[in-house]
Amino acid sequence: MWKRWVPVLALLALCAGTGAPKDAKSVLDDVSKAIGAASLNTIQYSGSGVYSQFGQSYLPNGPYPKFYAKYTRVVDYGKNISREEMVRTQFENPPRGGGGQPLYRPARGVTVTGENSPWGGGAVALTPHGWVKAAMASNPTMKSMSVKGKQMTVISFTVRDKYKVNGYVDSQNLLEKVETWMPNPILGDTLIETDYSDYKDFSGVKFPMKIFQKDGVFPVLDLTVSDVQPNAPANLEAPRAPQTAAHVESQKIADGVWYLAGTPDPNSMAVEFKDYVVIIESSVTEARALANMEEVKRLAPGKPIRYHVNSHHHSDHAAGLRAYVAEGSIVLTHEMNKKFYEQMVLKNPHTLEPDRFSQNPKPAKFIWVKDKYVLSDGDRSLEVYTVPGAGHTANLLMSYLPKEKILFITDIFNQFGEPRPNDPPPGIVTPYYAALGDNLKRLHLDVQQLAPSHGKAVVSVDLLNKALEGVVKAPEVTPPSGN
Ligand SMILES: [Zn+2]
Repeated sequence: MWKRWVPVLALLALCAGTGAPKDAKSVLDDVSKAIGAASLNTIQYSGSGVYSQFGQSYLPNGPYPKFYAKYTRVVDYGKNISREEMVRTQFENPPRGGGGQPLYRPARGVTVTGENSPWGGGAVALTPHGWVKAAMASNPTMKSMSVKGKQMTVISFTVRDKYKVNGYVDSQNLLEKVETWMPNPILGDTLIETDYSDYKDFSGVKFPMKIFQKDGVFPVLDLTVSDVQPNAPANLEAPRAPQTAAHVESQKIADGVWYLAGTPDPNSMAVEFKDYVVIIESSVTEARALANMEEVKRLAPGKPIRYHVNSHHHSDHAAGLRAYVAEGSIVLTHEMNKKFYEQMVLKNPHTLEPDRFSQNPKPAKFIWVKDKYVLSDGDRSLEVYTVPGAGHTANLLMSYLPKEKILFITDIFNQFGEPRPNDPPPGIVTPYYAALGDNLKRLHLDVQQLAPSHGKAVVSVDLLNKALEGVVKAPEVTPPSGN
């Protein structure tokens, strides 16, 4: 009886290669063969699905807002360059959340990564063929794991001695999932997971027809691939190194009030009181927040930045929040942010890119704004209001100087100065403008000038009023008045 089984076992051992337990190298060889990685130098794939904009949720702990997406990606594995092109159209109805909503026209965006990118072209290593090529060129480790009742081989390696990449290989030698962790100024070390399924064969190259990606807790891409062209001409050029330096050009807009314009966008505003200074808006990078602080220390020497007003939780408006806590500033923000800021933003590990707060942690001091909060030294007042009904986000704050009649406003009124897909057609008022107009009326605020967080300069409130009348004109920029 036993003898009958010997040839079968021998055959099984042959099928498995050597019969010896597999190591990472042989698993990768099998994956490479299964998906045709060795002969693949470039690929172009396209499809459609739903894209969700990271860091732009309506609620602080909620999912990112969705857009319909047409998607094309070209990868050059030899050059380690990836080019993603996406055309987004409006999905949410009514508009809820950021990402440039509401879109009245298709919005096209292109992202190119290469050796100069922050992760050195690491994005390529998250694609199935890029992953197996990168894993084979590294010192991978291997373990076996049961995932949702399915036995998987997990191959791990590290890119640039810093970024860990895990790939989950199934019994068919197909890559089902890649995970890695990327630094984020708000969320810290952030898990990025990409699921690949429904592999199809294209002249010996297998490619997944379904791609599903999560960035942090929530999905960012749910793509159905419809076209795959192995070894298509790529003609990709590596992007230049990104500009990470921050630059501030302060504009004095009233006595002791400065509009902090500069790069990267968005902008902030500083208000000087008798004994301290307030900075409104946290910015898109920690570097820009720190540059704003340095500029304010120059403009109002010797005065502490005692308060910081955080307009909302979006990734381009809260990246400096941790730096203000490290500075010792009291953070004024909407009460809805309590859990998100206390339990995630200030708790999550930032080991991949340690920031000012992780190097200098301090107990955070918050003022949780319910509907209104006033800072005053008896002479100057700054009134901070919530903006109910602003579909951009449920927790928006705007800041008003009653004496100077200046309103600092974020995202529901922008002043980019060039046409954008969210410019409404003539005669249409965007719901975000309408919400701002309604709130100014409700609160009886006498606003003369709007200081937009996204923009180049302070503008007259006439721009908003004209838009609300349905007379939409291209916004104009008033020249800066200097320091
Ligand atoms: Zn926003």
